[in-house]
Amino acid sequence: MKNLSVKFKITLWYTVFMTLLIFAVIWLLFSVGSSRVLSDARFRLQSVVLSSYEEITYAEGILDMGNAFVSPAEGIYLSAYDDAGNLLFGTSPLSYEDASVLIMDEFQQLKNNDAGTSWYLYDYCQYLEGYGNLWVRGVVSQTQTDTALRTLVRLSLILLPFFVLCVAGGGYYITRRALAPLAGMTDTALRITKGNDLSERIRLGEGQDEVHKLAHTFDQMMDKLQVSFENEKQFTSDVSHELRTPVTVILSECEYACREDLNAQEARSCLDIIHAQARKMSGLIAQLLMLARADSGKHQLQLELLNLSELAGIVAEEQKSLAVSENITLDTQIQPDIMIQADETMMMRLLMNLLSNSIAYGRRNGHILLSLSADETTVTISVTDDGIGISADQLEHIWKRFYQADPSRSSSKTGAGLGLPMVKWIAQVHGGTVSVTSTPDEGSCFSVFLPKKENF
Ligand code: ADP
Repeated sequence: MKNLSVKFKITLWYTVFMTLLIFAVIWLLFSVGSSRVLSDARFRLQSVVLSSYEEITYAEGILDMGNAFVSPAEGIYLSAYDDAGNLLFGTSPLSYEDASVLIMDEFQQLKNNDAGTSWYLYDYCQYLEGYGNLWVRGVVSQTQTDTALRTLVRLSLILLPFFVLCVAGGGYYITRRALAPLAGMTDTALRITKGNDLSERIRLGEGQDEVHKLAHTFDQMMDKLQVSFENEKQFTSDVSHELRTPVTVILSECEYACREDLNAQEARSCLDIIHAQARKMSGLIAQLLMLARADSGKHQLQLELLNLSELAGIVAEEQKSLAVSENITLDTQIQPDIMIQADETMMMRLLMNLLSNSIAYGRRNGHILLSLSADETTVTISVTDDGIGISADQLEHIWKRFYQADPSRSSSKTGAGLGLPMVKWIAQVHGGTVSVTSTPDEGSCFSVFLPKKENF
């Protein structure tokens, strides 16, 4: 049974069920119908016998039996007998041997197996004024009364196989059509498994039934899988690319440092370069690790009630020396004592990433403004600079990992395109959002909106 196809199982189940159901209905019809026919026949027989007495008269020693005894009406034969059981008048389809004794007001059933006939008998005796007891017997053929019913059942039994065939055939056709897309889905899944081609789709077309819904869901799932698989591929290639440059620099510096004629100053300069590249790699790996943990949901937030105003002041003070070295003025507008439930290290990183970007992409002799404000519901952090800005078509991409609007503008002070994705992630895990407005050559304004809730 397990090896049978679903369509065959479904068809088999309802065909068997339908057949049994039809048999049950026929049997019910036959048994109810035959008892009904029987009681009808008995009732007719009895009423014909009883009403026959109305036509019988006895006068001056002569019995006048009326017409009912001459020819059978409605298939009922009437015959009259005297008290001793002698036939006086009437017709009877029964042979002498077949006829049974007269029994008052009782139905009898007689079968002649040789002739294959079957009869119902009804006898009644009534006293006739002047004559005495007069018996009347009514006989009706049972075979005749059952014939219609038997024909009906016979016809049903002949038609049944055709009916069952039609039901089974039609059902099998519909089930096969309904389940046909499943075969397509299996093929697609097999092609994906064998060929590793995630662009394969079932594309079943319009339809609202369960199979169509399943196919659409499968296609949507494949869309998502393809996107995340391609992101993964892109991510791996970006990581390799970002790590390759410092590794190449370190290797070539090591080769240079191994030269015998190298003096102490040159060796020191080699080590400085190696140190800087190693630090860059270590920073990148730390960021990657954090993002990987963020993706897997394993990063635990150390939430505490934080004075964000104080933290913003400290970070701004730290970044000021960096800004000064670039001839950039860093100003702050910090609303005092803004308290927020947040992870201090993360908030510090968020502020540092925004400020270091503004310095890296800021204009020489330019200005940066870090502002922090809060209303009843929202804390707003914004960092505005008058630097190189970002073009409109690049704005939507800057939050993606490893995206650099213009890699040629990157310097040793910029990262690998992970700073803003981290800002966005930190804002999101704190229940907040980010936004940016920027005009090329005029400057940018990065804003972070955090909910001012005690808990979230
Ligand atoms: P990066 O390490 O390159 O700074 P980020 O994720 O921090 O990576 O930023 C992504 C890109 O967004 C940067 O390459 C840069 O082109 C652009 N960008 C970020 N901040 C600014 C800013 N303040 N002004 C102009 N461009 C910016």
